[in-house]
Amino acid sequence: MIQDILPSRLNNSWQTKKPQPDSIMMCFRGGRILAAIENGTPHFPRYQTLAASGSEPVYLFSVDDECFFLSETEAPDGFQYYTMRELRDQCTGKYLFAAFTAFHLHQWYADNRFCGICRGGMEHDDRERALICRECGHKVYPRINPAVIVGVISKGRILITRYRRGYAHNALVAGFTEIGETLEACVAREVMEETGLRVRNIRYYQSQPWGMAQDILAGFFCEADGSDEIRMDASELKSACWCRPDEIELQPQQHSLTNEMMQLFRDTNGCLPPEIFKPAADAAPQKTCICFTRHGETTMNVADHISGITDCELTENGIRQAEQLAAVCAERRGIELIVCSPLRRARKTAEIVAETLGVPIVTDERLREWNYGSYEDQPRSETPDFQAAKREFGVRMKDGGESLLQLAHRVYCCIDDIRKQYAGMTVLCVCHGGVCRVAETYFRDMSTDAFSHFFMGNCELREYEI
Ligand SMILES: [Zn+2]
Repeated sequence: MIQDILPSRLNNSWQTKKPQPDSIMMCFRGGRILAAIENGTPHFPRYQTLAASGSEPVYLFSVDDECFFLSETEAPDGFQYYTMRELRDQCTGKYLFAAFTAFHLHQWYADNRFCGICRGGMEHDDRERALICRECGHKVYPRINPAVIVGVISKGRILITRYRRGYAHNALVAGFTEIGETLEACVAREVMEETGLRVRNIRYYQSQPWGMAQDILAGFFCEADGSDEIRMDASELKSACWCRPDEIELQPQQHSLTNEMMQLFRDTNGCLPPEIFKPAADAAPQKTCICFTRHGETTMNVADHISGITDCELTENGIRQAEQLAAVCAERRGIELIVCSPLRRARKTAEIVAETLGVPIVTDERLREWNYGSYEDQPRSETPDFQAAKREFGVRMKDGGESLLQLAHRVYCCIDDIRKQYAGMTVLCVCHGGVCRVAETYFRDMSTDAFSHFFMGNCELREYEI
């Protein structure tokens, strides 16, 4: 992509610098940039070769040890003015990215010669990249327009568009963010407006500064939700259609995020690898801490009835246990969220802890207790075969119950999701004895014997770090 100039680096921090004889001068006229193109690389005049102009050059940024300045001057021999589109179509490399970035800054300076409050003249702030009004002190910072690029996917195909105006090659759905809208809401709105499609599973991919249009682009992938029939907005688009990976015709240049997203979809044959949606690779790995607890004592515990998915209430003792658990959690510190089984005994326990800690509760169906089928609500003393049935890990409990493997599947999936969604956080799962036992096997190896003898007391707390 245009900004991928490694091992070179753009340093755009604001500095007060004066041009040196070999400083690179970016000169614009009527939206065109002064350059000479040689073998696909744009070159720009040096300070020493420019005729003196009335105004002081403005420092823009550096690329490695080369400094770039904004200047207004006449074209020296060998240089001519190019549109940004001409430059984009004919060039690659770090100087093209420098030209895009310089153009963005040039446009911002050009658009802000006068104060929007009092019409006074604007001058350069000497401490940061800003313009400040001589008359009233009003300050203006660089303007960047946020926009989204959206790869909409359905049945192994991606939605390819062509714009009615402007760029002539294949593109994805794109649009500007409105004030008061999140990027994700913008994705959903733009796709709906341009193609009539509803979308789900919106996932951020990557971003790109696009100075030519003074944008920052945020790329997202998502899936069509429900019907994939396209109702194209003909005022915006010339075409919109679903393309299989092998049908995708890429853009002639590899500058854009749009092209990179189309290419990724093509090269992975439509199976986008999940790791592309992970946070930036240079982000420090985060430790996630997941605590498990079993609800407080219930009326069915006291009566020694089997309580799988059967709802029952906490006893007074159970409420006291939950209060003690809350105190232990408060002492432990750091719990930011409770994920809770939907069953009442777990919910009540979670509420008592949540109130003490002042943290939110999220309910997750997958943390409900093992469904014991026809053993539900039976007195343990009258079901001598219950223990044996629990050890048959691949056999479903009679009358609509679950097997242990089924229980393990949903509990493991739930823990996987907690790790993904709440990475770096400390989460307390309030659930049940059977669920806690399976959770233990997620984090630690257990022999069959240790597994059958595992016991979690009411409101006992176990902690796992990943
Ligand atoms: Zn003013």
